[in-house]
Amino acid sequence: MDDLYECPYCGESGQIDLDSDVDLDSPGDQVFVQDCAVCCRPCTVTVRVAADGTASVSVDQ
Ligand SMILES: [Zn+2]
Repeated sequence: MDDLYECPYCGESGQIDLDSDVDLDSPGDQVFVQDCAVCCRPCTVTVRVAADGTASVSVDQ
């Protein structure tokens, strides 16, 4: 499963591979840094996993 986010630096859409980057079986916040594919700057990605396994993504500089 992939999810899209908007780069906080350049505004381009990036893709997060939720299957490999996030443990959807563990509810809570999971934070990792992913370099933007367009501007190569590090985006801090926070994935909030709900108890039912759904994820919501927010991205900060
Ligand atoms: Zn970018």
